[in-house]
Amino acid sequence: MVCESWKTQLDSYLDRELPDQEMRAFDAHVRNCATCSADALSGVQLKRAMQSAGKRFTPTAEFRQRMLRSIASKPQRTFRLGWMLAAAVAVVLVVGAITSTYLGNRSGSDQVFSEIADLHVATLASSSPVDVISTDRHTVKPWFQGKIPFAFNLPELQNSDFSLLGGRMAYLEQTPGAQLIYNVGKHHISVFIFQERALPAKLSDRSLDPRRLSFNMQTWSRGGLRYFVIGDAAVSDIDGLARLFKNAS
Ligand SMILES: [Zn+2]
Repeated sequence: MVCESWKTQLDSYLDRELPDQEMRAFDAHVRNCATCSADALSGVQLKRAMQSAGKRFTPTAEFRQRMLRSIASKPQRTFRLGWMLAAAVAVVLVVGAITSTYLGNRSGSDQVFSEIADLHVATLASSSPVDVISTDRHTVKPWFQGKIPFAFNLPELQNSDFSLLGGRMAYLEQTPGAQLIYNVGKHHISVFIFQERALPAKLSDRSLDPRRLSFNMQTWSRGGLRYFVIGDAAVSDIDGLARLFKNAS
């Protein structure tokens, strides 16, 4: 089995401990191999989950064993091809950023940005990325009514390169919010909207350095709502979609 040799190196890959040349070869393989990208993704998610859980409590040995068993038995092979490839690219990006993310204490705002990136990656990897599938903002917007404690406007996309794929509920810590998923070219972009006062950290409006975050992101606040636009699309596309949202709100 050709993937067996990759699998033995997966942990080292996720920890970025392989030599540069092997890291690049592994990146290339993960982009094209559904099995290995699924394994890498669950490895990334496990690391992230353990990292944030580790800040909240210390698990007992039995609890740890139980968690590891439940994770090991979870089927991970139900990817649809398009989303799977997007997820594979996202995995490569996240693995690239993992070292900087895991070293040292992160500030509250960095933690929020990292969780937003996780939500975006989890969406790309999900077998049902959207809860309401529609390209029509007049269908997507009312779907959120009664599900989240605020209303928002979605931009008109005519004469733009963006298309709306749909939306889903998003949770940051325990705060409910809206996630809209857009396409531009081959890239998926998520737009997250939360109530500013419900967020766990005070944030400032800015664009984020993709070398630190592994995605391009822009965030701003308007009318008591905090917006995040994130994706592996070009900075100009992230800015373009952000501008459409700012004009609509
Ligand atoms: Zn493989």
